[in-house]
Amino acid sequence: MNRIFNFSAGPCTLPLPALEEAHAEFLDYQGKGMSLIEMSHRSKEYDAVHMEAMDLIRRLYGLPDNYKILFLGGGATMQFSMVPMNLMAPGQSCDFTLTGAWAKKAYADAKKIGNVNVIFDGKDDNFMSLPEPGNLKVNPDAAYFHMTSNETIGGVQWSDFPDTGDVPLVCDMSSDFVSRRIPVEKFGLIYAGAQKNAGPAGTSIVIIREDLLERSSDNLTAYMSYATHAPKDSMYNTPPVFPIYMLMKTLTWLEKEGGLDAATKMANERAGLIYGAMAANADFYKCPVHQDARSNMNVVWRLPNEDLEKQFVSEALAAGMSGLKGHRSVGGCRASMYNAMPVAGAKALADFMGEFAKRNG
Ligand SMILES: *Cc1c(COP(=O)(O)O)cnc(C)c1O
Repeated sequence: MNRIFNFSAGPCTLPLPALEEAHAEFLDYQGKGMSLIEMSHRSKEYDAVHMEAMDLIRRLYGLPDNYKILFLGGGATMQFSMVPMNLMAPGQSCDFTLTGAWAKKAYADAKKIGNVNVIFDGKDDNFMSLPEPGNLKVNPDAAYFHMTSNETIGGVQWSDFPDTGDVPLVCDMSSDFVSRRIPVEKFGLIYAGAQKNAGPAGTSIVIIREDLLERSSDNLTAYMSYATHAPKDSMYNTPPVFPIYMLMKTLTWLEKEGGLDAATKMANERAGLIYGAMAANADFYKCPVHQDARSNMNVVWRLPNEDLEKQFVSEALAAGMSGLKGHRSVGGCRASMYNAMPVAGAKALADFMGEFAKRNG
């Protein structure tokens, strides 16, 4: 077996112990003579997995009882429509911060459901900086206030969260979910696709404050309503059982590693190594992101020209590091370093960056 360092933005590398356990249990789950994914989702074996996955999220974040956890299909992308469909009544508007590619996608969908006020638009700075949370002017009448905590493509991450008062704060946390402690009480709703930090693709996680469930209109179709899923603990229909099982394994690993504090410490170490390699070769590598908006999950950089970028990505792959090509919409290079990326992976990449710059600078 030769597992390489996988810097892919998502689906992403998962902890080896989680994969090994799944491998060992796959054909015969707990002596039942079948795999977990062949069993009824109403079986007590699956139920234990499902509830433990929810409990892990609750324990990791220290979620109070008035927050419900949902596991849904359709990825984070489906939440771009479910959030406005459920939280915004006809005639209401919501507030949006446009901080990059993902925020813009969420905005485009919300606009099809209701009115959207843009509170911050990063386009003048090419989405390479973020607003000061304290300077944001929240509309007191807004149905909710939407932000994207980490822009996976741009490599931009909020270090602090705005205070939105009575207006529910809604956050797309797809690419920094379970990577740091958050002031939970500030949020009305958090959503994330699992495949960036918490597990494989196939389930998204929604954390919703209970009082917001009352907003879901009876006119919504069953699946699209949060009020359908919440009282049934996301067992209204067949949940994505295998992704949830892998999410459970991944979060079990994270809890054993030390939970969110350990995740943050590792993320800062990894990101520090890569930003450090850039700083040490500052005439060769350039990070386009403003200093205080730099992500510790997705680190982006440019080389002097695109040919060198191509060469960098292919030589890195030959050296056992994959997934370093920047998103096709922005080019350049990107290292996505989620919870399961060992610090040794970042160290190997930082060393390679130094050596590559020396050879080609
Ligand atoms: C990947 C990503 C999404 C889209 O997630 P899907 O699960 O593919 O729908 C949305 N927002 C952010 C911040 C992401 O990184």
